[in-house]
Amino acid sequence: MPETILIVEDELSLQETLAYSLKKEGYTVEVVGDGRSALEFARRLKPDLIVLDIMLPEMDGFEVARILRKEMSAAILMLTARDDEIDRVVGLEVGADDYMSKPFSMRELMARVKSQLRRARLLREEMGKAKDADSPHEKLTFDNLIINLTRREVLLNNEPLPIKPKEYELLLFLAEHRRQMLSREFILERVWGWDFIGDSRTVDVHVRWLRQKIEADSSKPTRIVTVRGGGYRFEG
Ligand code: CA
Repeated sequence: MPETILIVEDELSLQETLAYSLKKEGYTVEVVGDGRSALEFARRLKPDLIVLDIMLPEMDGFEVARILRKEMSAAILMLTARDDEIDRVVGLEVGADDYMSKPFSMRELMARVKSQLRRARLLREEMGKAKDADSPHEKLTFDNLIINLTRREVLLNNEPLPIKPKEYELLLFLAEHRRQMLSREFILERVWGWDFIGDSRTVDVHVRWLRQKIEADSSKPTRIVTVRGGGYRFEG
């Protein structure tokens, strides 16, 4: 079955170009032009990916992402009006998986769409496998830190942490590669699905958020340590 993509964009010419290009690639495409319809359509369609503009009538893209992130696992690719650092950081904070600054080429957009859909497929497969295996690893325990794979939950001193989906995925990825040095590029490729030169500050921002949650003193991290020469290592 072809994958479904919901385009949320109020600029008519961009709507048309996006829809045309994505349909040509064989995806099922729906288009809406405001934030409220985006919620409605996303709930009904359960799309695999949402291309989400930030500046929208009714409700902005940040709010749409914040709400939908709690309800579904669709990949969210945000469109920012300019190369704005704040927009990017907020976008990632509310649960976007990737972002692109306008103007962008359709070729670049297509590459990002494909890598997000591929990442989502891999994730589904892994989750399917974990279920099938009646997994002996339904929990990863590191002293007072527990990652519950079945519930996608992280506990510190037996208290669940308020953790965002991307933070969870990053922590799990680090934990599965315990004591290995992981470069920012490798983490970006595997956790974000960015198989191009992405912005490695994205990794740093998420590591910082994670440290604030799981480290005793986030200014002197002992769990996620920075490795000189460009990467991170999870110590446990
Ligand atoms: Ca707009």
